[in-house]
Amino acid sequence: METIIYNGKVYVDKDHFEEALYIKDGLIVAVGSNQEIMELAGEGCEKLDAGGKTILPGFIDSHLHLLSVGEYLVLPRLRDARTIDELVEIGRKFIEDKPKLVEGGLIAGGWNQDLFTGEKRMPSRHDLDRISREIPIIFERVCGHVATANTKALELAGLFDEIPKLEGGTIELEEDGTPSGILNEGEAFSYVARHFPRPSLEELESYYISAIDHAVSFGLTSVHSTDARDNNYKEIFELLKKLKREGKLLLRFRHQINLEEPDNLRDFLASEYQDESYDEQLYLGPLKLFKDGSLGGRTALLSKEYQDEPGNFGIEVISNERMDELVGLAHEGAMQVVTHVIGDEAASRVLDSYEKVIKGGNKLRHGLVHTQITDLKLLERIRDLEVACLVQPIFLDYDLHIVDDRVGPELASTSYAFKTMNKLGINTSYGTDSPIEELNPFPGIYCAVTRKDLEGYPERGHYPDERVSLEEAIDSYTLGGAHIEFNEDRKGRLKPGYLADLVILNRDIFTIPEEEIKDLKVELTMVGGRVVYKKDDKK
Ligand SMILES: [Zn+2]
Repeated sequence: METIIYNGKVYVDKDHFEEALYIKDGLIVAVGSNQEIMELAGEGCEKLDAGGKTILPGFIDSHLHLLSVGEYLVLPRLRDARTIDELVEIGRKFIEDKPKLVEGGLIAGGWNQDLFTGEKRMPSRHDLDRISREIPIIFERVCGHVATANTKALELAGLFDEIPKLEGGTIELEEDGTPSGILNEGEAFSYVARHFPRPSLEELESYYISAIDHAVSFGLTSVHSTDARDNNYKEIFELLKKLKREGKLLLRFRHQINLEEPDNLRDFLASEYQDESYDEQLYLGPLKLFKDGSLGGRTALLSKEYQDEPGNFGIEVISNERMDELVGLAHEGAMQVVTHVIGDEAASRVLDSYEKVIKGGNKLRHGLVHTQITDLKLLERIRDLEVACLVQPIFLDYDLHIVDDRVGPELASTSYAFKTMNKLGINTSYGTDSPIEELNPFPGIYCAVTRKDLEGYPERGHYPDERVSLEEAIDSYTLGGAHIEFNEDRKGRLKPGYLADLVILNRDIFTIPEEEIKDLKVELTMVGGRVVYKKDDKK
């Protein structure tokens, strides 16, 4: 199959644009002027007029949770709550509207007490009891590291009889020793959640399909998604293979695999990792680990105590010993590792683990996801070890309001240091961690180039020295993501030999005012030469 896209403004490289592309069998064969490319058209070649619009390589989101994106599209929108009363109302209304969906319980996420007007406290079990005393409920905070359960859910987990000792999380108690409902970190969360029914395969599939449609409409052509975990990895692998077989996987999907049980990792390396059916559309990626929590929830692991909560240094969710063991196992199996680190102490401990296996260059491209709180010394160490940073500039929209309070202005001024990362030559790739944030790449590009929140605050930008150029932001969202998946010769550029993964924008990102970048829309998304999204003209 041949396609020509002509009459466009094709971004090839910084200050290098062409008019047209010639695509054959899913690959870009040539880029050039309209005339040059038209001469290549064979019989039956499809011709697509770009109408003078800007064409970029398709976006690669280097860390998100596609399955949860789908769940969020279906489940109640807790992120809209601006008070605890509203949160309760959203929950109540959902149960009323969709009684079948909540029969065995309701798990949803997205609330953020920092966005509450008035009292900015986290909801307790008593608040969620106002939604229901009969249906077990868990509402996760937007960060995914804190959750609140109602009394029914806590009862099912036996927490009124006995509070278990957990290694990777805490169950908060009220003064009388009963649980408050607040659960910190994954282990506490799963201790309660294991009593909820698992979603059926059909439900999971419908989540994926909603999320994939959503993703391609925002111009994502590849996603690196953390969905497979210890308790579901086999199911998730099979489900994605099924979606691919049935032609429902419209984009390229790279698994980030969150296995924290060494036995599961061994099993995976011996079986799935040997599966040769994986290809350029569906492929296995790194082991994904978590070292700490979130800045919003004050569970990110810091080298100094929280400025706004003395005595608190955050939470280490995986010990150094376990980290060494898992990193060692993966590395031996030639598997890349990427680890969630938000606090500076978390990053430096993970680097300690990586350093033990990185010898003579970081060939497996082990990386750090988020890498938010940093100082120059830490960044230089990241550079020296050739470790990649998988960052989410859209986090600035919220975090720039809290980071000075959390860690103090000195450390804040060297954090979210996207420009310094580039200057040091660290490979940075961008993403959204969606559903933590909407998976739309444009607000993230806007935040990276302006260092402002989506309302335009602060006027001069938050530590504006860390602003990156527009080209740097686009490249991190395309070529940077390609690099972390070892595909920088196949993806992230619109050049001969590269995959025909691209987007056509509604306006020219290179000439519009910076503050309008966040509002850009995608008119067309192409993956491997196939149009997977086209803006509906009627809308
Ligand atoms: Zn994540």
